[in-house]
Amino acid sequence: MQTITSLKSRAVFVPMTRPLHTATGTITKVPLVLIDLATSAGAIGRSYLFCITPLALKAQVALLDDMASLVVGQPLVPFDIEQMLAKRFTLLGATGLVGMAISGIDAALWDAKAIEANLPLARLLGGAVRPVKAYNSCGLGLMGPDKVAREALELLQGGFSAMKLRLGYATLDEDLAAVRAVKAALPAGIVLMTDYNQALDPTEAIRRGHALEEFGLAWIEEPVRADDHAGNARVAAALKTPVQIGENYWGPRDMARAVAAGASDYVMPDLERIGGVSGWLRAAAIADAAALPMSTHLFPEASAHLMCVTPTAHWLEYVDWANPVLQAPLEIRDGHAMIRDAPGSGLVWDETRVKQYAY
Ligand SMILES: [Mg+2]
Repeated sequence: MQTITSLKSRAVFVPMTRPLHTATGTITKVPLVLIDLATSAGAIGRSYLFCITPLALKAQVALLDDMASLVVGQPLVPFDIEQMLAKRFTLLGATGLVGMAISGIDAALWDAKAIEANLPLARLLGGAVRPVKAYNSCGLGLMGPDKVAREALELLQGGFSAMKLRLGYATLDEDLAAVRAVKAALPAGIVLMTDYNQALDPTEAIRRGHALEEFGLAWIEEPVRADDHAGNARVAAALKTPVQIGENYWGPRDMARAVAAGASDYVMPDLERIGGVSGWLRAAAIADAAALPMSTHLFPEASAHLMCVTPTAHWLEYVDWANPVLQAPLEIRDGHAMIRDAPGSGLVWDETRVKQYAY
């Protein structure tokens, strides 16, 4: 049985191609933690975490360094390690930086497992490697109608047929102007998702949602606070446009509570909050049981593999944020993520760039 010989984490602060201004703030550089987990067979499993703010980078790395003591020397059995970590952190709470660390370790373990098995992650999990339908989630922040219309056209590059526009301007009129401008700029038939990043209260979300109904939006994401299940359920029940939430589920049990509350029409768990690959598989079972279309949130590289074993797979969210530190970024062709038929989840660091962007 192979064992884990080391777990190393590094922080990088990577410039974005398209700065993103959402209802919760602006980011121009992405704070990432890169994880390398080595095994006695010589495999290196990799994953990365998005820390939202650089202020969390040092703490996230320190936590992962300390958690390495629990993992190093253990057999390479993702299920057992996930159970062990969940137990160890029950009292502290497996959310926030702790939850992200557990998820990052889990994703690196599965990557190592796939590399040792000489299989792409999708195939290790029993799926086939196939093109995964993706929407372009780069850019389209709160920049006003002229700029979003211009950027929307650029986002068609790569053959994308779908993209996501951030909403949550000060007024409904400004939201409508942005949607109208993007719709007018794009060819007919392009699918448009929108995201409020939790900006509204339920009453305002219903008012704005009704006004947006005429545009046939693919979904309205996080219209209200993500943990307000009752509020989300009210909005979902009131609108014809589907409500999408899920990036803030902290593990499958949290997701199960939201699903039981009827909080949304669609779900989109996030690899680093749902519990890595192990958490994702449980989340996919919950979505399947409830017949809810399931999309991904960030981390398109590993998430593309997971979509190949997600019964209600819907849309892969494509962002290029990690591309500058990847040797071979995820390829997009005709609006689909093309998973490489190579061992693992497809993450290999470009060490020169990693050094350049070290934080
Ligand atoms: Mg979102």
